Amino acid sequence: MTKTILSAKWVLPITDPALKNSGVVVEDDKIVELGSAEELTKKYPDAVVRDFGRAIILPGFVDLHTHLEFSAMRGLCEDLEYTGWKLQLTKKIKPLVFDDWLVSARLGAIEAAQSGITTITDMTGTGASLKAAKELGLRGFMLYELSGMNPNLIKSVMDKAKQTVSKWQEETDGSLLQIGLAPHSTYSVNPRLIKEVGDWARTDKLKISIHLSGSKDEYDFVKYGSSRLAGAYRDLMGWSDHLWQPTGASPVKYLLQWGLFDNDVLGVHCVYVDEEDMSALKDHDVAIAHCPRCSAKLAMGIAPLRKYLKLGLRVGLGTDSPASNNTMDFFDEMRIGLLLQRAANHSVTENESESFIKLATYGGARALGIEKDIGSLVPGKQADITVVDMSHSHQRPLTDPYSALVHTANQEDIMLTMVAGKIIYSGRKTIGPDTEEILQKIESVRSKLR
Ligand SMILES: [Zn+2]
Repeated sequence: MTKTILSAKWVLPITDPALKNSGVVVEDDKIVELGSAEELTKKYPDAVVRDFGRAIILPGFVDLHTHLEFSAMRGLCEDLEYTGWKLQLTKKIKPLVFDDWLVSARLGAIEAAQSGITTITDMTGTGASLKAAKELGLRGFMLYELSGMNPNLIKSVMDKAKQTVSKWQEETDGSLLQIGLAPHSTYSVNPRLIKEVGDWARTDKLKISIHLSGSKDEYDFVKYGSSRLAGAYRDLMGWSDHLWQPTGASPVKYLLQWGLFDNDVLGVHCVYVDEEDMSALKDHDVAIAHCPRCSAKLAMGIAPLRKYLKLGLRVGLGTDSPASNNTMDFFDEMRIGLLLQRAANHSVTENESESFIKLATYGGARALGIEKDIGSLVPGKQADITVVDMSHSHQRPLTDPYSALVHTANQEDIMLTMVAGKIIYSGRKTIGPDTEEILQKIESVRSKLR
């Protein structure tokens, strides 16, 4: 196959120093070489050259936590704290059928591509996210979501999960997607079900992700059996007849007691944690999906990111879908994440912009355990690449490409998104799905959400 040289004013390999006036040679699904654009064009005279000019080439973003199928709920439940948002969302989505979820997931996949996201970790109950991600050619983990507090239904929930997971494994065989499990959260999954999911994941070597210690309400529910998650939410879900006893433990310690952390686990949010919780997460090598914008918007708090990094935990960033976050703009995620840490800690850390770009790329790959394949621009790795236009007036002049990306770029500045050498977004267009058709259909899905 012909080689392609992607060149631009700056190339950020992430695990190596930034390069100027350089290029990345791509062949099939892999990165072949990095170097000066001039020398690469001389060395490979037959290569197709795409020069992006005043732009930055970097690895594609790794979204550690999203729900593509929740894109139709953008702006649906506004100005609410977490539990109020969750209650309203749960009520409003009831009329949707699979075709609606699929339109919604396709909108999410388009947005991921146009935001420079190349890998997603998606929690899905319907499988619509899986279909949309596969159609577009995104890489990632599709995690089957399980929930239920009714002890009498554990067997049927597990039977359905096993059937669905084996079907999904067949459907994704040979694709860039892997299947895992997502027990939804501590407040929505019976502890015996958590135990069974953990045992299953250990036997079948499946990745687990779980919403973990995101809010004070969740903490109070688990430890004291209180908060609206113990009252209004359980009433809404029809679980109020099933006993829930306060455990006296934090959500992290509670999951530890039920053996969940003896697995490959990605905890989502991890905002409401104490020092002991953080040590437990470190001891069990639990990876963290840090979702700063969602946590701030739903008044959940600010996760202790700097402490996680100091402890050496595997951390990356997640958008948590437009239902809570309104967009999947990864620049917003980096920018707001960085600003919140500075505001909360009253200090600036060394090379902080660079470290947020690393979280968004290599950090995410490491959190997923796939940093050998993606997350940085290195010969031999998969060609998962994004290109960001830096030519606009709001981006000039430019000295430091890292801080410029974090503080001046937006998802509209993405010029190209490539996954495994295949272009999925270029020239303001997603390659494949008919965006206009999806945008029309999304309005009728939205009209069902009242
Ligand atoms: Zn979520």
